Amino acid sequence: MFFKTEENILFDSHAHINSKDYDSDIQEVISRAENAGVLKVIDIAVDLDSSKKSVELSKRFQGKVFSIVGIDPDIILPISELHNPDLKVEAVFNELSTLIESNSEFIIGIGESGVDNYWLKQSDLSVSEQEALIRKQIELLDVHVELAKKFDLPLSIHSRGYEQELISYLKGKGVRGVFHSFTGTYETAKDILNNDFGLGVNGIITFKSAESLREIYRRVLGRKINEPIDLYSKNVYLETDSPFLSPDRGERNEPANIAKIFEFIVNNL
Ligand SMILES: [Zn+2]
Repeated sequence: MFFKTEENILFDSHAHINSKDYDSDIQEVISRAENAGVLKVIDIAVDLDSSKKSVELSKRFQGKVFSIVGIDPDIILPISELHNPDLKVEAVFNELSTLIESNSEFIIGIGESGVDNYWLKQSDLSVSEQEALIRKQIELLDVHVELAKKFDLPLSIHSRGYEQELISYLKGKGVRGVFHSFTGTYETAKDILNNDFGLGVNGIITFKSAESLREIYRRVLGRKINEPIDLYSKNVYLETDSPFLSPDRGERNEPANIAKIFEFIVNNL
């Protein structure tokens, strides 16, 4: 088990409830999750400020919310809403180390970490500009890898459009983690699992267009007819990626929807 939680409870392994989208009703969001049987929420930061905000949430909702702190690779990309041209990659290790050292009971992972190649591929940047931005994202990932090793914490890995390259890069580095929102191929999924990394599955699996992803998870889970579903022992974790990727497309997503995603998987995979 990657995240410090008991087996066999429903929990959201990747949500951004530190987002300002929840500032006005965070208490209700947590209550709705609990009422739906989603007993824990792992809150993912995207930068230093949201890392600190996440720790505050973990303190406020002790035992229900836990934090994963780090700098999202999209911060590097000029084409992303998250872009911050002032990020000093050299400063990240010390800034996050200080935060983790004084809040170790609330911080259970590092992330999100990785490379986003999906938007780059669709951009009109030149190949050499794209390669430079990937190198910069990998520099930031290396800082996360060092933090994960220093504190013995798992990574929440962002691998969009770069899944195979990232598992090849991370294997043998002495870290563990979950490929959040995995949408790669079956072969890459196997490579990830064979190297003791996990897969994160979210509302995308419920989308009409996602039949090939469902087929990948059917093969990964290898479930026989009428057999109970067993995700965690296969290193598959449920996530919402709230506020994004709602199973009710277009709505603000929230951790309570883990119950819907789980029910869909039980009935369709
Ligand atoms: Zn995310």
